[in-house]
Formats: sequence, structure tokens, C-alpha cells
Amino acid sequence: MHGEDPYAQPELDAIPHADRAGLKVLVIGAGMSGILSGIRLKEAGISFEILEKNPDVGGTWFENTYPGCRVDSANHTYSYSFRPQDWPQHFSEQRVLHQYFADTVDDYGLSDSIRFNCEVLGARYDEETRLWQVEVAWASGGEETLSANAIICAVGQLNRPNEPMIAGRDDFAGESFHSARWRHDIDLTGKKVGVVGTGASAFQFTPIIAEQAQSVTLFQRTPPWIVPNADYFKHVPEGKHWLLNHVPFYARWFRFNMFWRSAEGLLGAVTAEEGWNRPEESVSEANQHFRDALVGNLQMHFHDRPDLLEKCVPAYPPGAKRALIDDGRYLSSLKRDNVALIADPIEKITAGGIETSSGNAYDFDVIVFATGFKASSFLFPMEFYGIDGKELHDQWAGEPRAYKGISVPGFPNLFMCYGPNTNIVVNGSIVFFSECEVRYILGCLAMSMAHENKALDVRENVHDGYNEWIDRGNLGMAWGQSDVSTWYKNASGRITQNWPFTLLEFWQQTRAPTADEYELV
Ligand code: NAP
Repeated sequence: MHGEDPYAQPELDAIPHADRAGLKVLVIGAGMSGILSGIRLKEAGISFEILEKNPDVGGTWFENTYPGCRVDSANHTYSYSFRPQDWPQHFSEQRVLHQYFADTVDDYGLSDSIRFNCEVLGARYDEETRLWQVEVAWASGGEETLSANAIICAVGQLNRPNEPMIAGRDDFAGESFHSARWRHDIDLTGKKVGVVGTGASAFQFTPIIAEQAQSVTLFQRTPPWIVPNADYFKHVPEGKHWLLNHVPFYARWFRFNMFWRSAEGLLGAVTAEEGWNRPEESVSEANQHFRDALVGNLQMHFHDRPDLLEKCVPAYPPGAKRALIDDGRYLSSLKRDNVALIADPIEKITAGGIETSSGNAYDFDVIVFATGFKASSFLFPMEFYGIDGKELHDQWAGEPRAYKGISVPGFPNLFMCYGPNTNIVVNGSIVFFSECEVRYILGCLAMSMAHENKALDVRENVHDGYNEWIDRGNLGMAWGQSDVSTWYKNASGRITQNWPFTLLEFWQQTRAPTADEYELV
């Protein structure tokens, strides 16, 4: 079916085409993973529809339009393996990424299979018919129930904004908004802007808005590690474009080399060494070297600003929290006369602005909350009722887990892309994970079709054993060792988001499902 495609699912070849068309799959979300699911389902001849709450495709690349938004995984890896692109920059801007996904939808003729402005509220599994009944709400009003043999949730982990619970938030008299819902109608020119948070979003827009605003005051709770990368804003040079376009296999080699160096190659620098006891600094000798190099970069930038150096050197090991890559633009912006970095904790929001615990008050016209997403509330706010009417979040009870990040016991034929413990820390590309997951999910569908459309329910002992292995793996990594706050963890401190092993391991784990993993119900 896919020729040389390494993501082909050979199990499908044994299924007659008429049977494939008789299976109905609903995909939730038309972002990177949902589009990919649609492409693979269409290629396989399986009936499907994609349900998208927004009026357009692209997911995160449609929703995040804040100034300076760009991909922070190298573009030549952050793209589908089967649809390479001659990217203009090593790390392209949001509109370029959005266009890539929109063009992919056009190239693969998916538009007619997407229902836009259609938000999934939840779904209920009917054990008699083995069908999922999916409740959707239309943006124009009205609700509808759709039915399907299987659901693929492709809604991402970083989708629902985390609106911080800060005392007095409603008292603020100026304008305020979350960075993922940027208010382009609010002109920041000449305004006093407060920014809460110093993560991947704030770090991208701060240098840009600092050029417009009268002042930008950043409230930092925990400093991020900054990894220098001179290519971050650079255009791909002419010679590289020529190589990528003309030399046979060069583009594939270039992509492979990037994966190998930037993902597998860096894993050793964030793996804990037994007996290493520097919880606020490093988790191993290699990690300490990594730290020293990153501190050296901060010292170079802030040789004339010891106050900023003190605020910007993290007291946790590199890798414990999402690092940011910078060519110096962000660090330089912190030195601007109209930018202030406040490390005092926020006490409350007032009508005029923000007060910190040391009693200082800052006046603002606008406050931007760059406070991230409800990452560990997987699939929130949808509700899924599986066997015996059990709701998925009730079953999880705050501890989201899944088998290979894809299946949960008691929820037959409910599959996830970018589910629990499938996030990567030291780069690589989440597109790689989605391609592996969708290959595996198509294998599950093939198994279902080979057994009269019975649904696949992952065996509880298989699921539990897998999760013990994942938890042990995460405890051996920088992010599992440190108690720094990060979206990698849930409220209980367990690492719910990250994959602790190599990309190759995930590739092997997700080649195809086997009969001893699943019960057919
Ligand atoms: P984030 O990394 O979770 O950062 C949120 C920031 O808000 C942190 O500095 C956090 O402080 C702070 N914060 C949260 N609640 C707060 C509160 N109540 N009071 C004070 N500060 C508070 O969120 P993000 O910047 O949106 O990025 C999230 C993830 O999205 C990234 O790690 C990345 O994976 C992805 N992302 C990617 C790109 C890209 O590819 N270009 C861009 C943006 C985001 P603490 O650190 O102390 O928790």
C-alpha cells in the first residue's frame, strides 16, 4: 500500500477493501496528528471524518498567533517524513507552519472529510453495538450524536490554556489575555505591559513587544534554561537549499542526522547517574558539563548585569524543565531599558496592576498571561464513558496513564495521539511520535477488522506493567529527579507527559499491536 513507506502498516494488507470501507473512525482534531490520521485512514480506504472545533486546520499553529511565534524544534525534523519541505528557516514562523499543514490537507484531498466548528463534548461506548456515540456541538448552535467503531483523539497536550488562579485577577481595570488567545485588537504601542510567565511563549514574544511597548515587565517564577543556537532566527542558506533540492538522498540524510544528534545524542546529557547528589545543579557528570556550558553562555551575556545573571541561572538540573533555545535575542531583550525581570513572587492582581510579595506594586495597561496549558488534564474538557459507564478522568483520578500513550483499559477502540508519556524533552520531533502512533493505531484497526470489527481493549496487566516501566524510566531522568515545577508532571509530582527512552525504542514499541496486548470485546 505505501511502497517503501517505513510507517506502512502491513497488517492492513490482509483486510479486504470492502471491510475497510465498512469501518467508521472519528478523528478529533485537525492539527498535526489529526491530519496525519486522516491521510493514513484515507490511504487505507477506511471511512473516517475529522471533527475540528476551530474554523480552520492546524491546531496549535492556528491557535497560537502571538508575536514572534515560531517552531522551536528544527523544522527539517518537525515535518512529516513523507512530505519534506524546503523550509525557509531552520525554525520557521507560525504562519509558515500553518500553511504547511493547510497545504498538506489540500494535497491529500482531506478538506471534505473535515467538519469545522464542530466541538466534541464527549463520547459513550455502547457494549451491545460496539460503537462509540460521540456528542458534538456546532459553533453555530445545536448538538448532534455521531457514531463510530473507533475514535482517534488527536487534540494535543498543549491545547487548553492554563488561566492562573491569582488573587484579584478580576479586579484588573486594564486589558488582559492569555498568550494562546492573543488579542491582536489591542495595540501595545506605548503601553505598560505586564507578562506573567517566562516559558516558551513569553520568551518568543517578549523581544518583539519590547520594541513597541513603553515598558515590559516580566514576572518570572522559575528561570528557564536557555540553550544557545545561532541558527534560531536564520534563513536556510542558499547552498543548503541547493543540497536539499539537488543531491540525491541528502534531505533524508540531513533529517536523519538531526534526529540522531539532537535527540538520541542528547539523551545521555539528561540521564541520571546513580549516587550523584547535586539536586539543585545536575544529575550526572555529563549533565554537569551541560550545565556549565549553559551557565557560561549566561555569564557571557550578563557580564555587565550581575543582577540578571543571578535571576537567570536556574537552581535545577538542565533537562528537568523545558529548555528554550535562543540566539541571544531574548537575553539581550532583558537588558533593554524598557524591560524589567521581576523574580519576586506575585502576591495579587489589583485594579492598577500586579503586587509582589515584597510589597512592590507595578502599574500596567495590559497584562499577558503566558502561563502555559493544562497539559496533564489529557483530553479535557471532553468526557469519555467506557465499559460499565466509567468515565475516563474518573478512572484516571488525576493520574493519566495509557498503554504506549495510546490505549486505556476499559475504553475499547479509543486511541490517542500525543497521549500520556509521549512527550520528548531534548528535542527530536513530536511529529515522529505521531507517525509511530498512527501506524500502530492502524494496526489496531486491522486487528479489529480481522475479527468481525470486535473492539480492542488493552489488557490491564499489560497496561500496568508498561506504566511501571515508564515510571522507572522517568525516575532515571533529569525531569524525574528534580522537584522543580513543570508541565511534565501532574499535581502529585508524577511525570505524566514524558517518554524517558530513545526514539528508536518508541519506534520499536509501536510497530504493530499483538494479540497478547489486547482483548477483543
Ligand atoms: P510554560 O512553559 O508552561 O510556561 C508557563 C510560565 O508561566 C512559566 O514560567 C510558569 O512558571 C509561569 N506560570 C504559570 N502559572 C503561574 C502563576 N500562577 N504565577 C506565576 N507564574 C506562573 O508555557 P508556554 O510558554 O506556553 O509553553 C508550554 C509548552 O508549549 C512549551 O514547553 C513547549 O513545549 C510548547 N511551546 C512550543 C513553542 C514552539 O514550538 N515554538 C512555543 C510555545 C510553547 P513556572 O516555570 O514556575 O511554572
